[in-house]
Amino acid sequence: MVRLDKYLAQMSMGTRSEVKKFIKSGRVFVNGAPASGPEQKVTEEDNVELDGEKVSYEKYVYYMLNKPQGVVSATKDNTCRTVLSLITDSSKKDIFPVGRLDKDTEGLLLITNDGALSHELLAPGKHVWKTYFVRVMGTLGDNEVECLEKGVDIGEDKLTRPAKVRCLDKKELDMVPEDPGYPGEDESCLELSICEGKFHQVKRMLAAVGHPVLYLKRLSLGGIVLDPGLAPGEYRRLTQEEIAALK
Ligand code: URA
Repeated sequence: MVRLDKYLAQMSMGTRSEVKKFIKSGRVFVNGAPASGPEQKVTEEDNVELDGEKVSYEKYVYYMLNKPQGVVSATKDNTCRTVLSLITDSSKKDIFPVGRLDKDTEGLLLITNDGALSHELLAPGKHVWKTYFVRVMGTLGDNEVECLEKGVDIGEDKLTRPAKVRCLDKKELDMVPEDPGYPGEDESCLELSICEGKFHQVKRMLAAVGHPVLYLKRLSLGGIVLDPGLAPGEYRRLTQEEIAALK
């Protein structure tokens, strides 16, 4: 049971003071009757309407963030900006990033309050695929590509699981030289897909084959792909199709 004003604010209908005004001006109905006041208690089962439109209860929220460089994938940090500070429209207090991207890594980061989904995506046994765009020093030869595809020694008990590699030609990059992903002299780009999530895994894999990472961006996670319309720092809610694709 929650107060009606809190419920409406949690469902992103407005700020707490805005929704109080909606209630007082008679725009909100509960189970067909005008709401008695902001303090009226409602549950998930009640039929709440604002301006005649049903306000469906939403337990979980799912955001796709294009994480910019310089922010940390944490819920709290004493010195650095966190990814959560970029999500400005969520009334849910329990959201968190699903996994981590390094401070200097950009790209797709899922933010949610759905702990079960997060577990499914991160559990080591699930082998969820993640694809990264990588700019590296030098150009990978066939041997190094084969090494990554078979598994490389990054100092763990076992070799990494087989990865997928796609070396990218400069011509197929939809970028201008000012883009941080654009390769300079004696640099090249590739897409690397992995189905594990060891600490600094992509950087360690490429360092192991002699090509240090200069820029890293996550492009996809499981069934979802970073929306190219999101600039670094921007986010949006996942669509129903994207949520289904993650499950
Ligand atoms: N691998 C890395 O090395 N860094 C990341 O941020 C993600 C994967």
